[in-house]
Amino acid sequence: MGQLQKILIPFLGLVLAFWFYSARDTFKPEMLRGKRVIVTGASTGIGEQMAYHLARMGSHILITARTEAKLQNVVQRCLELGAASARFVSGSMEDTAFAQHVVREAQTSLGGLDMLILNHVGASYFGFFDGDVEHVRKLLEVNFLSYVAMTTAALPMLKESEGSIVVVSSMAGKVGFPFTVPYSATKFALDGFFSSLRQEFAIQSINVSITLCILGFIDTERAVRAAAEVLRERPAPRDECALEILKGAALRRRELYYRYSSTRLPLLLRDCAAELLDYLVRSRYRLPAPPGA
Ligand code: NAP
Repeated sequence: MGQLQKILIPFLGLVLAFWFYSARDTFKPEMLRGKRVIVTGASTGIGEQMAYHLARMGSHILITARTEAKLQNVVQRCLELGAASARFVSGSMEDTAFAQHVVREAQTSLGGLDMLILNHVGASYFGFFDGDVEHVRKLLEVNFLSYVAMTTAALPMLKESEGSIVVVSSMAGKVGFPFTVPYSATKFALDGFFSSLRQEFAIQSINVSITLCILGFIDTERAVRAAAEVLRERPAPRDECALEILKGAALRRRELYYRYSSTRLPLLLRDCAAELLDYLVRSRYRLPAPPGA
C-alpha cells in the first residue's frame, strides 16, 4: 500500500498539473475580437488566410504587400467575413521607410496595435547556391531587416497594449536545408534576433510576447510551384496553418510548430544526432543521380 501511495500521489500531481496547464491554455476566437492586427505578406498564401481567420474573429485588420489589386480583394473579403475593420497599405519591404510607414498607419488609423504578424517573404531561387552575394543582401533586407524595422517602430504601441509579435519562420531557419541557402540564412537570422530580444524583454519585464513559427511544407502557390516536384512529402493546408499560427500567437507561445510531426519531432534529433537529422532532411528530396552514376 505504502509503495502504491508513493507512485500514485506524484502521478495524480502530474495529472492535475497537466490539467491546470491545459485549462489555462485553451484558445477561444474571442481572444482576438476587437484586436488591432497588422499582417504582412497578406495578398496571398498563409498571410491571406490569416487575414480571413482574423476577420471571422472580428479583429481590426491592416494588411500589406506589394500588389494593390490583390490586397483590395482581400480587404473586401475580410469585410464580408465580419472584420471589425479592414484596410491595406501597398509597398515593398525592400524599403525600410515603407516598413516604418505601415506601422505609422496603424497608429493613425487604428489608434494603436495589439499584434504585429511578420509573414512576408521575398522571392528567391530553388537550387544550389549560385554565389550571388547581392541577392543574399537583398533577401536579408526583405526577409529580415524589414522585420527588425517594423518591430522597432511598433514597440511603443505593443508595450502599451502588452501585445504580441508573431514571426513566421521555417524548418529551414532551424536546420540547414539544401537548395534554399539565402532563404535559410534569412530565417536563421530571425531566430537569432527575436530569441535574443525575448530574453531582453524578460530581463526588462516588458510584457510583449514573441511567437516564432516554425513551418514545414505548406500548400501555398509559391511553395508548391517551387518544391512540389522535388519534395517527397505532401504539403499541409494553408488555412489550417494560418489558424494554428493565430492560436499560438493568442496563447503567447514562444514557438509554434506546424505540422508538429514534420517539424518539432525531427528537430529533437538536432542535439543528439545532427548528422542523422541532416541525412533525413536530404532524404526528403528527389535528387537527380550524381554525374557518372
Ligand atoms: P507567399 O504565398 O509567396 O506570399 C508571400 C507574401 O509576401 C505575398 O503577400 C507577397 O505579396 C509578399 N511579398 C513578397 N515580396 C514582398 C516585398 N518585397 N515587399 C512586401 N511584400 C512582399 O508566401 P507563403 O508561402 O504564404 O509564406 C508565408 C510565410 O511562411 C513566409 O515567411 C515563408 O517563409 C513561411 N513559410 C512558408 C512555407 C511554405 O511551404 N509555404 C514553409 C515554411 C515557411 P506581393 O507579391 O503582392 O508583394
